[in-house]
Amino acid sequence: MSKPTREEMVGKLEQIVNDSYGVDGFHLNGDIASWDELEVPAILQAIREALEENQIMRELLWVNHGCPSSAMYGDDGKMDCNACVFDFKNGDMKVFAERRATKNMKRYQEYLKKGASR
Ligand SMILES: [Zn+2]
Repeated sequence: MSKPTREEMVGKLEQIVNDSYGVDGFHLNGDIASWDELEVPAILQAIREALEENQIMRELLWVNHGCPSSAMYGDDGKMDCNACVFDFKNGDMKVFAERRATKNMKRYQEYLKKGASR
């Protein structure tokens, strides 16, 4: 079984909230704290919005990250780059950022070597 996506995990939490009233044991007087009282629906909405914005940013980065369009694969809703060997839709952006930083450092070192040989 593959790891659930963030959207699926939020969906599971929304299902729990929709199928229950709140948290028993939260208030010391024995009252049940409702999800609304704890602002859980608003928090879930904020998470949904952040996930949506994340997808928008991923798509913008995929389209504008500098590789030729011939290296990019976007069928079936995918956002892959064959040159970067990276899945912009679901890939770990920390990995992409580290690879990009390494690539930029190599470029800078090459620039310095060229400068020193002049
Ligand atoms: Zn690329």
